[in-house]
Amino acid sequence: MPNCCLMQANLRILVTGGAGFIGSHLVDKLMENEKHEVIVADNFFTGSKDNLKKWIGHPRFELIRHDVTQPLLVEVDQIYHLACPASPIFYKHNPVKTIKTNVIGTLNMLGLAKRVGARILLTSTSEVYGDPLEHPQTEAYWGNVNPIGVRSCYDEGKRVAETLMFDYHRQHGIEIRIARIFNTYGPRMNIDDGRVVSNFIAQAVRGEPLTVQKPGTQTRSFCYVADMVDGLIKLMNGNNTGPINLGNPGEFTMLELAENVKELINPEVTVTMTENTPDDPRQRKPDITKAKEVLGWEPKVVLRDGLVLMEDDFRERLAVPKKTKA
Ligand code: NAD
Ligand code: UDP
Ligand code: UDP
Repeated sequence: MPNCCLMQANLRILVTGGAGFIGSHLVDKLMENEKHEVIVADNFFTGSKDNLKKWIGHPRFELIRHDVTQPLLVEVDQIYHLACPASPIFYKHNPVKTIKTNVIGTLNMLGLAKRVGARILLTSTSEVYGDPLEHPQTEAYWGNVNPIGVRSCYDEGKRVAETLMFDYHRQHGIEIRIARIFNTYGPRMNIDDGRVVSNFIAQAVRGEPLTVQKPGTQTRSFCYVADMVDGLIKLMNGNNTGPINLGNPGEFTMLELAENVKELINPEVTVTMTENTPDDPRQRKPDITKAKEVLGWEPKVVLRDGLVLMEDDFRERLAVPKKTKA
């Protein structure tokens, strides 16, 4: 089918990990196209039905409790393969399960794609660059990754997943797309998943100190989830296999992030320095030249606007209403 028509056709789309943070926003966007049927397969390890509640019972929507480390038989045209815990707290909780999810889960989804002739998109990660020796990171950089560290189940797992994708593409002609996602934030992030943006917003809303891990000068680049979902859909429906970096190149130190959250959400909180975890990358910023050229994509939401967009969702879930000025 010509590429131009893919967006218009009646497609049945599988989203693995669709009950999670990015997955549920992706499902919202796919369901808005009235011609698509969407199937979500999720084991609810870090995701929840709550994230999909507005679609449950909809005639074009189906939710399956399924672990991707087990084979899956469905008939679909496209597979967005997101299933994998993304937060260090969760992926380190059961590292053997994390690497099985990345390796066996991706193998199963590729076997499925092969059987039904579906196009498959993998959400890989900027963690494939490890603690990068090149800055900013382009897709041509091979990375600086510890193969035996506590993060390896995730970053080496995703590296193997990318390898499997390319081997199925070369050997079996499977249509693949690989996104290397950089830190993404927005409503529906798990409140206590330990990631920096969700931690700081929850702390600011609860009136607790913002915990900056030492040294605080380490950098990250944060992409708002709506921008990320647009990038994923463009990548799926474009002609380039990737890997393509998707992220927001605006780079901030963790101290700067804390100051922004404090100023925007609760100027009364303090900022404290806490111990860091092993193998924490010192700096990370995507080079998105390829995404701009190949997909015509770049993020639109700047950090300070995105943080404010998260506040209402966190206040509602934490049951802490905004103070009204007397
Ligand atoms: P998330 O934890 O909110 O979502 C992951 C989903 O996968 C959850 O619903 C979870 O229940 C499900 N899942 C986990 N293991 C599974 C298994 N074995 N079988 C079936 N379902 C399983 O995470 P997210 O932030 O939405 O991340 C989605 C994808 O994007 C992941 O592949 C992650 O590696 C990638 N990614 C995210 C970020 C980010 O900043 N959020 C950055 C880089 C890459
Ligand atoms: N698989 C799946 N759904 C399918 C087809 C295959 O989950 O519709 C799984 C299958 O169980 C296998 C994996 O995908 O473990 C790889 O499949 P492939 O056909 O490439 O390899 P083989 O089955 O020949 O080992
Ligand atoms: N971080 C922090 N305070 C927190 C949680 C994390 O300063 O409460 C720092 C952490 O040391 C890292 C950065 O924020 O340098 C991003 O961490 P996160 O776990 O969000 O993402 P990742 O390390 O996977 O990029």
